[in-house]
Amino acid sequence: MRIYKVGGAVRDRLLGKPVTDIDWVVVGATTEEMLAKGFRPVGADFPVFLHPKSGEEYALARTERKSGRGYGGFTFHASPEVTLEEDLIRRDLTINAMAEDDQQNLTDPYHGQRDLEARLLRHVSPAFAEDPLRVLRVARFAARYAALGFTVAPETLELMRQLSESGELEALTPERSWKEISRALMEDQPQVFIEVLRACGALKVLMPEVDALFGVPQPPAHHPEIDTGAHTLSVLQQAALHKQPLTVRWACLLHDLGKGLTPEEEWPRHIAHEFKGLKLIKAVNERFKAPRDCQELAMLVSEYHTHGHRALELKPSTLLELLQSFDVYRRPQRFEEFIAACEMDARGREGLEQRSYPQADYLRGAATAARTVAVQPLLEKGFKGPELGEAIKRERLKALKAYKENT
Ligand code: ATP
Ligand code: MG
Repeated sequence: MRIYKVGGAVRDRLLGKPVTDIDWVVVGATTEEMLAKGFRPVGADFPVFLHPKSGEEYALARTERKSGRGYGGFTFHASPEVTLEEDLIRRDLTINAMAEDDQQNLTDPYHGQRDLEARLLRHVSPAFAEDPLRVLRVARFAARYAALGFTVAPETLELMRQLSESGELEALTPERSWKEISRALMEDQPQVFIEVLRACGALKVLMPEVDALFGVPQPPAHHPEIDTGAHTLSVLQQAALHKQPLTVRWACLLHDLGKGLTPEEEWPRHIAHEFKGLKLIKAVNERFKAPRDCQELAMLVSEYHTHGHRALELKPSTLLELLQSFDVYRRPQRFEEFIAACEMDARGREGLEQRSYPQADYLRGAATAARTVAVQPLLEKGFKGPELGEAIKRERLKALKAYKENT
């Protein structure tokens, strides 16, 4: 048997990037031989094994054929006769279809190295179209390598467009899609992921609610960039620049969905978009089965982000309602993430990226003021049940009034 390093490890070494996980391909071996060497099988009908010591993935060289709709519709053929070239041709991009032996000799039948130099994300063969997930993968790699100057080859983008129009994207499971979406959002230029999806028509299929934001104007006084789609991309970019977690990035992407529902005659104003967006966000959340913390934050940020921006003008009672809505007493982290999303929203505006956002510290101070109200003295006064709740609220309101007067 011959063993090669493949995929991302080869690509990233040639790019001079750190290599985190290594994938291996094994040519000329049978399952029985792998098991005899102590490799542990990953799945029952999948020719992939884990190394007994390193835990890295070793896959038997295989060919794939599409046999139906969706990802279940694949048949694998792994046997000792499958060559390295045959295994590499089933891969998505030429830059992901290179292999390397232990002497660092490169096997590169589909010119991945040439495309690395040309900074092109190019599909290996027409079989690319057999797995619609590749549309998301290419968009994700575009986001990851945008800073290095990579773009999607025109003929690959065309193939992605055909895939998007074919209805195949709908066959993706929420789990597979979310894995790509969440990884793409965590890249340094997540906005490129959305741009590429939009350029090939996939955004319209996957997230029509986001796609609808392009071409929707906002008031130039608050939004010099005017276009709501352009604004959304900038907010996402700011979130990445400020190293925000996935929850915040997801909320940033979805925070203005309501603006896509505004009747044209109301443009460029967007009355109550904070609420109108909620049912759209719920639909997107459920479509991809986003994790609960992502779902929650996206909903809360849509509903309350304009409160965040007006923090310094809010009445103490409104501030209190805001803090209660976030259950800031038990979930301080979530409120921090809300503040971050608001700040990214404010910075995601053309020419205003560097402007300070005093609302952030003001909101933090308000949360601290409300949280320092002690419950014990109220218990000692004999309050219990609903009366205790009311008493706590009164004390918190008092604290917020004092806070507002003193800041
Ligand atoms: P990363 O740095 O994100 O891990 P990677 O290229 O290693 O990038 P993996 O998802 O680990 O990506 O997959 C390893 C290799 O398997 C890829 O480089 C590619 O050759 C191939 N591959 C993975 N998923 C697909 C797919 N859906 N279609 C075609 N080839 C794929
Ligand atoms: Mg990998």
